[in-house]
Amino acid sequence: MQFTRLRLTGFKSFVDPTELRIEPGLTGVVGPNGCGKSNLVEALRWVMGENSARSMRGSGMDDVIFAGTDRRPARNLAEVSLVVENPDRTLPGAFDDEDRLEITRRIERDQGSSYRINGRDVRAKDVQLLFADAATGAHSPAMVSQGRVGALISAKPRDRRAILEEAAGISGLHSRRREAEQKLKATEANLLRLQDSLSRLE
Ligand code: ATP
Repeated sequence: MQFTRLRLTGFKSFVDPTELRIEPGLTGVVGPNGCGKSNLVEALRWVMGENSARSMRGSGMDDVIFAGTDRRPARNLAEVSLVVENPDRTLPGAFDDEDRLEITRRIERDQGSSYRINGRDVRAKDVQLLFADAATGAHSPAMVSQGRVGALISAKPRDRRAILEEAAGISGLHSRRREAEQKLKATEANLLRLQDSLSRLE
């Protein structure tokens, strides 16, 4: 999986549509303090399904929407798209036959987020699982933000285990297991109800 493009509109300080090409190899982002370097990394994490407003340095998720300046009014929506190449078709799951994926997350003020993959509406969970399976999720060690190295060193064993599982690309399995267990419980409840109805008919 290779990230090749990042498009932002109305996201934090990126009020105007902005597109960044991410070439193979090392990419550096340079600029004066406060120009938006961290906002770019946050945009990456956000489009991968980050659901903690705090880790986006906000008090609510709407804080990622351009809040306005003296000269420009605030916006009511933000959108970030990430294009990833999958030439070897190594992406696991439902998208393994696509050469290129465009993952889009959009948020409207007071309306919450919606997600699309190649134009199709998907759940937040589908996006989170896609990146978790590819070991590049919003919480993966592939995303190292300021202060994260110290936090990794002092992490509790349980939290460190979660980091290792994310790196190994197996963290999506926990979520799938929970989903399967819930389905199983619902099916067992249905079976009981069916048996009950059958015994009343006999
Ligand atoms: P440093 O080098 O100091 O770490 P940086 O280049 O990483 O800075 P960021 O922290 O990415 O900069 O960007 C901070 C800027 O983004 C601030 O000017 C802040 O006002 C602006 N900003 C953050 N959220 C929003 C928002 N919702 N609307 C408008 N501007 C925002």
